[in-house]
Amino acid sequence: MRKDVCGAAAPIAIFVEASSCGISRVVLELISKATEIASKSPREIVAFFPCFRNADLASELAEAGADRVIVAKDPLFDTYETGCYASAVSAMARSTLPDILLFGATPLGRDLAPRVANRLVTGLTADCTALDFDTEEGLLLQTRPAFGGNVMATIVCPKHRPQMATVRPGAMPLSAAKKYKRVGKIEFFDAKISPVNVMSRILDITRKDVVEAGLESAKIVVSGGRGMKGVEGFEILKELASLIGARLGASRAAVDSGWISHEHQVGQTGHSTHPDIYVACGISGAIQHISGMGGSKFIIAINKDRNAPIHDVADLSIVGDIFKVIPKLIEMIKEQPKS
Ligand SMILES: Cc1cc2nc3c(=O)[nH]c(=O)nc-3n(C[C@H](O)[C@H](O)[C@H](O)COP(=O)(O)OP(=O)(O)OC[C@H]3O[C@@H](n4cnc5c(N)ncnc54)[C@H](O)[C@@H]3O)c2cc1C
Repeated sequence: MRKDVCGAAAPIAIFVEASSCGISRVVLELISKATEIASKSPREIVAFFPCFRNADLASELAEAGADRVIVAKDPLFDTYETGCYASAVSAMARSTLPDILLFGATPLGRDLAPRVANRLVTGLTADCTALDFDTEEGLLLQTRPAFGGNVMATIVCPKHRPQMATVRPGAMPLSAAKKYKRVGKIEFFDAKISPVNVMSRILDITRKDVVEAGLESAKIVVSGGRGMKGVEGFEILKELASLIGARLGASRAAVDSGWISHEHQVGQTGHSTHPDIYVACGISGAIQHISGMGGSKFIIAINKDRNAPIHDVADLSIVGDIFKVIPKLIEMIKEQPKS
């Protein structure tokens, strides 16, 4: 395990992605995970924050559990530019020598992390859905789907440091940081980037109007698969979801059939979600789907096939026809007296 000059384990660093809407939720999820690792293997949690107009958000990171927030404030970091950000984050890593360096597997994180890994001459496990830490070996256990999603592989990086991973948004809960109540300090860092480091110039940004399905932070998700048979089937799910305050999810089969948009897809090539309750309706439970919802606290499966793999991960299995079970459920909910 890499140690600092005082013999303490080297820090866990997290790249901070933020916008005018605030700190990206995945950053807070990573701080939570880092806090959990630091509770097993004590070490600092450091946030790397290249920014300009968003610099005020540093205090939120300190409150969220980062022991040190290293802020590189420069107009060059106001808009994401690959070369500038890669140089800055690599410089921060060379100065703090982290044992672990984590990024959200967002479009930005996926663009940036491999370039930083290359500059630091280390490996990168992309698109992880789970992280753990082997305290004896000092290794980050990085789990991600492999071989077309047919197996979940746990990857380690024993020879190079930092151990680097991108982690899918929504794959980890937010709880740990609050539990350990860490509050950190803010430092400023000169990344020594000059305009000559800028390889491309952003002339204009056009935002695509996307209606977010809100799956990453949902408390309840009602999700439909091929068994919903069509758009009409999803109308029944929408009614159930609105009655119980749930978000709507879907399997890839339902999305590919054009019954619902991709923003609602749960799984390896969709969103990760870990709600308190996940209701899987007419979903068989392929590994690529489970990898996006397997961390849900309580899983209810409604499927007419008693041998469907979804029943193996379900806490409550209803073997029956969705088109009989769900209308009955809706009826019962409507009969409940309103409190
Ligand atoms: C690289 C790769 C990435 C992938 N990524 C994803 C991903 O992100 N998300 C994802 O979901 N999949 C993904 N898949 C696809 C995945 O392998 C499955 O094909 C898909 O999840 C199946 O969707 P489904 O369960 O809705 O359909 P099916 O497997 O066809 O299951 C339908 C289920 O509905 C049940 N059913 C039918 N009628 C009724 C009824 N009336 N009442 C009750 N039950 C009924 C059936 O018993 C069956 O179990 C990926 C595949 C690959 C190769």
